[in-house]
Amino acid sequence: MKDLAETRSLCPNCLRVVPAKITTDGVRVYMEKFCGEHGETRALLWSALKLYTRALRFSRPGKPAKPHVENIVRGCPFDCGLCPSHKQHTCLAILEITDACNLLCPICLADSKSPPRWSPTIEDIEIMLKELLRCEGKPTAIQLSGGEPTVRKDLLEIVMLCRDLGFKFIEIDTNGIELAKNPILAKDLADAEVSGVYLQFDGLSPEIHQTLRGCDLSKIKEKAIENCTRAGLGITLAATILKGVNEHQLWDIVRYAISRRAIGINFQPFAALGRYPQNLFNPLDRVTISDVQIGIEQQSGGKLKAVDFLPVPCPDPRCSSLLYAYYRQDGELHVITRLADMEQLIDKYSLKNEFIEFDNLLKAIADELSISGSFMRNLKPQAVGSSLRLLLEYLRPEGFFSIGCHFAQDAWTVDLERLSKCCVHELREYGRLIPFCLYNITSISGGKIYRGDLPPKSSGAQRG
Ligand SMILES: [Zn+2]
Repeated sequence: MKDLAETRSLCPNCLRVVPAKITTDGVRVYMEKFCGEHGETRALLWSALKLYTRALRFSRPGKPAKPHVENIVRGCPFDCGLCPSHKQHTCLAILEITDACNLLCPICLADSKSPPRWSPTIEDIEIMLKELLRCEGKPTAIQLSGGEPTVRKDLLEIVMLCRDLGFKFIEIDTNGIELAKNPILAKDLADAEVSGVYLQFDGLSPEIHQTLRGCDLSKIKEKAIENCTRAGLGITLAATILKGVNEHQLWDIVRYAISRRAIGINFQPFAALGRYPQNLFNPLDRVTISDVQIGIEQQSGGKLKAVDFLPVPCPDPRCSSLLYAYYRQDGELHVITRLADMEQLIDKYSLKNEFIEFDNLLKAIADELSISGSFMRNLKPQAVGSSLRLLLEYLRPEGFFSIGCHFAQDAWTVDLERLSKCCVHELREYGRLIPFCLYNITSISGGKIYRGDLPPKSSGAQRG
């Protein structure tokens, strides 16, 4: 084993801060750490050292927001909120509007079950959103999540509140059951100008649903997608990928998503957060970001390459990777980011824009290409207008499609250095913000630092 870096982590048994090392056997990348009480642990971080090293090259400095917490008592990660030492502002705020759910999945990072213990009122939510605006200075992207957000009868009111406060990107994180049952809900959400739904979709066979969700949801997913499409709601599929369960279906899910005109798919390698069957998880034999990248390359017969995925430089680049593509009428995917030198583009634009917005990416590529002669030569002489229009004329896409991969940190892999650059935050009572992975960190015996430490139903708790 060779050492790559030193950092700090948490012991997966007691969640105390412990020193940690990132190591490699020359092929895979591991995290190794030692707790005085619980001894040594080792977990797989990335299955491919080459892709790991490439990801690190995409690292860029963050832009901190105004902190919500001023007094640091115990230090990172124990009085998070965000505090003045956090290095990145909020790109995506996850607002859980209930922890009730209409499923009881064997795997649930939020450990959702009924009856609900967390169900902030509209007034509570307004306070939370206004504090987010104060810290951030402008609206962020919002995901309304849970539990299952569609079980709340006042979901549309909450959407309207977000819009009234200026939030424009509002996504509903859902299992699709209500949307399948009730086409009017899809229509109402579209009318309320929701940006899209983030639909849990783990695979194409009943056994996969059974293992991850406890029942076969195939028909429900199909119906939910149909209702959303009919209503004009954009759909991004979200697949939890678990070793031995569905890692063989990555490309099938991509093909399915395109055939249903979804706008993207986000693969989430399973992280040991919340509730899960212990026998399905081995920290040394698990799916990582690089497994998704390599799996897509292999399963697509090389149509897409592992390196077509770009590490997202806004959080730590080891957290997420994205592949942007377009397709024409035949449904074949073409990788947009092969059109330009993306490392160079990210250097040029990443400090101005967060560079995860698809529009920004397209504009950046268009600006680059319209300057370069070869692109101009491919266009008809009469084609004039903005560089973006030129790009679209050149590509003539039937649609755009993104393949994301986000690998959450769990108690086995959490890296406090990485955590300090997180830009996906849970929005909690009074506008407190906590990095998503940290909020959901779960010890081997089920202990938590943050989740479960909830004010009573309908809030009313004192600001701590
Ligand atoms: Zn320990």
